[in-house]
Amino acid sequence: MLKEAWTSAVDSLKSTSDGAAVGILNQCAYRGEMDNGITVGVSGDFAINYIKKNLLPRMQSLLKERSGRDIALTFLVDPSLVPAADVQHDLFGTTDIEKKRHRSSLNEHYTFDNYISGKNNDYVVAVAMRVAKSPGTQDNPFFFHGGVGLGKTHLLQAIGNYIIANDPAKKVIYIGGGAFLTEFVDSLNSRNANRFRKKYSTPDILLLDDIQQLQKAVQTSKELFEIYQTLEQHGRQMVFVSDRPPKELENLDERLRNRFEKNVIGRIEPPLYETRLAIIRTKLDELSTDIDGSIIEYLAQNISTDVRKIEGALKSYIARRDLMNVTLSLEECIDAGVFNDYCTTSGIAAASPKDVLRAVAKVLSVPADVILGKDRTRTVSYARHLAVYLALTLSNRSTTEIGAEFNRDHSSVVHARHTIIAMMREKTHVAEDIERIKNVLSGRTA
Ligand code: ADP
Ligand code: MG
Repeated sequence: MLKEAWTSAVDSLKSTSDGAAVGILNQCAYRGEMDNGITVGVSGDFAINYIKKNLLPRMQSLLKERSGRDIALTFLVDPSLVPAADVQHDLFGTTDIEKKRHRSSLNEHYTFDNYISGKNNDYVVAVAMRVAKSPGTQDNPFFFHGGVGLGKTHLLQAIGNYIIANDPAKKVIYIGGGAFLTEFVDSLNSRNANRFRKKYSTPDILLLDDIQQLQKAVQTSKELFEIYQTLEQHGRQMVFVSDRPPKELENLDERLRNRFEKNVIGRIEPPLYETRLAIIRTKLDELSTDIDGSIIEYLAQNISTDVRKIEGALKSYIARRDLMNVTLSLEECIDAGVFNDYCTTSGIAAASPKDVLRAVAKVLSVPADVILGKDRTRTVSYARHLAVYLALTLSNRSTTEIGAEFNRDHSSVVHARHTIIAMMREKTHVAEDIERIKNVLSGRTA
């Protein structure tokens, strides 16, 4: 019973965590129930401290969600859970994929199959596929970058999972910059620097995530350059991921930066509206569930940059539905602010009702004073309804305040919102208009 809760909580935690955290979670195992709590084996003190510092509150709330009560966690050091990444890989040519993945710190969930490709990332995906199919040949090292939550870790791990699935004899190491740094410092403190260098100079494929975390760590980035040279000499594949391009990695060892710039550099852009819709549909499929189309569209419209937040919003809606047995309509969700924590109206966070009015006027070619006036022709009413709806969802103001801004009473504000939500279900141009208005608001297009 508790074991299931634990497994499901850890799975869910992994699917929303970065690679470093997933690596640590792979070094944990359920060991039993004790005094109504759970005992968990963990590879070592470093991992236990990491969990306590970074993961514990989420772990506890997920466990509570699943078991219906607070669960005490006891951690025990269990050295058998140390990943054996530095064990001679030839010996393991025949072991199963599961163990390989674990040893490489890869999350099985991150594959090419469930990675949605669109204009924003198709080039990077194509290079990543080529790397996965023929590692250590053409694109070495491969460097790609992009903002938070755009799927960099997913794609990086997809390369590793693909390689392991197709050639289990290959030794893959995935590690995040922060964990790499900590491990290096620990190795210096325990006079094990040689072991560290050996571990990272021997894999067939080194996947290094979030390399911006090494920026200020001069000595670690020098060490990485040494490792780089060894791997390069042996034709081993390296993939580096960062939240910014190489030229902005200011304090990173310059020799490393030069190497990155001599090879393929890819950039992942935020997904466009249609791609966001496709991502949501895929996530719903993975969760084996479905939700109302208007909510899907609302999320695709309002969460434009961070895909992690799209997932968070979906999960929170579904959890509310399944745990409390209430299926909220989109109107109710907006009123209750269910999605407020997830909406990334980045760049338009400060949009006032007046900004919204100007943007709507521009995109729909209806003058602002006409929108505020009494004309009830179809085009003008639509512009008015849209302006009210967007002002409500973007400016964080109450229906009464918005009413005052637009010379309307409370009930016509509520009516405008209902109208737009109903129209979104039937007419695709509404979503497109909203997207264009938001682009104007965020200054992306004129
Ligand atoms: P990053 O490393 O760029 O911050 P992640 O790789 O951690 O982002 O992605 C955050 C979440 O969004 C993950 O659960 C990932 O599966 C999902 N995700 C991001 N982009 C895509 C995509 N194109 N297709 C499917 N899922 C995606
Ligand atoms: Mg990441």
